[in-house]
Amino acid sequence: MSANDIAIPGDTGATLVVDLDAIAENYELLLKTCPHARVGASVKADAYGLGLAPVARTLSKAGCRSFFVATPGEGLALRDVLPTAEIIILNGPERGQTDLFVRGALTPALNSLQQIESWQLENPDDRAPAYLHLDTGMNRLGLAVDDVDILVSEPRRLKGISISMVMSHLACADTPQHLMNQAQIVAFTEMRTRIETVTGPLKASLANSPGIFLGPEYHYDLVRPGAALYGLAPNLDRPNPMKQTVEIYAKILQLRNVDTPMTVGYGAAQYVKKRARIATVAAGYGDGYPRAAASKTGGGMHTYIAGYKAPLYGRVSMDLITLDVSDVPEEFTVPGQPVELLGPHISPDDLGASAGTIGYEILTRFGSRLHRVYRDGGA
Ligand SMILES: *Cc1c(COP(=O)(O)O)cnc(C)c1O
Repeated sequence: MSANDIAIPGDTGATLVVDLDAIAENYELLLKTCPHARVGASVKADAYGLGLAPVARTLSKAGCRSFFVATPGEGLALRDVLPTAEIIILNGPERGQTDLFVRGALTPALNSLQQIESWQLENPDDRAPAYLHLDTGMNRLGLAVDDVDILVSEPRRLKGISISMVMSHLACADTPQHLMNQAQIVAFTEMRTRIETVTGPLKASLANSPGIFLGPEYHYDLVRPGAALYGLAPNLDRPNPMKQTVEIYAKILQLRNVDTPMTVGYGAAQYVKKRARIATVAAGYGDGYPRAAASKTGGGMHTYIAGYKAPLYGRVSMDLITLDVSDVPEEFTVPGQPVELLGPHISPDDLGASAGTIGYEILTRFGSRLHRVYRDGGA
């Protein structure tokens, strides 16, 4: 895809292109990487900002059967899209909310003794499956070792609960040499073995995207990638095996020649150092472009125009950025020209790094103002 194929409609400033074919290819690569496990998909937060419905349909077509979201509301929205898929609600059921789960045939992750109790009391169907989440080191969600002791000594607490999976979550999977990874496997095995004295053998799930690339020992029965499906690097220190799935192009609105002594943008933060040509472009932090991508004094990150590098010049505004286009041929610096903010030259991981954050946050911040285009060669 090149910037010249990109339509930025007249009623908008910037276009977000989501490559659904690339998402399907990424899913297939993960299938090959996990020959002995099922590959689910994390589609929480509107499929990491890419759009729940089109992404979930694409993954379902690629063979995915298990979908993870955070809240029951997300689960009900997904149920409208995928009538028969398994939908797991990671945050679990709050007391009095079980009817939402029943209505959407949603599978809760049970994260605490209290959630287990609510589910036991309120869920009308003893065969409705639930995941049991064991905390092996995140200290975020899931049953602690003490909770497992209580369940084992008081097995009636699990009566009428149909556990279809035990799961846990890795804290440091993006750092393969981190000792925490192996320690979490050991803790997971211990806790799971104790629970199984009550329940009998259970299926297990541990790996997120980076966890998949730690090796088959981490795959168990089901893996739960999100980021890798959307093209983020599972490990920032290694070449990224995933295909990039998103591009953003914003249009040039206006050109201006500046010279010393002048400044550009808010705070008069960017001093003009030499005569320069400045392009004002129609996207800003209101569209999800991180304000921190410009350093305190002005620039920092860059963009590409027809393959030519154009650095940020001055602060990022809500609706606009300003670029130094002095080194871009004038034929490409005209109003309406698309500017690559993310694309073949700039990954979400790159943009995240420039702003002191991660690609995950870049993706999930995409604003509702962006015009969205879905590429789906198969459809
Ligand atoms: C978000 C999430 C995932 C997916 O993580 P990625 O790093 O995006 O692959 C998997 N499991 C749990 C419990 C999660 O919260």
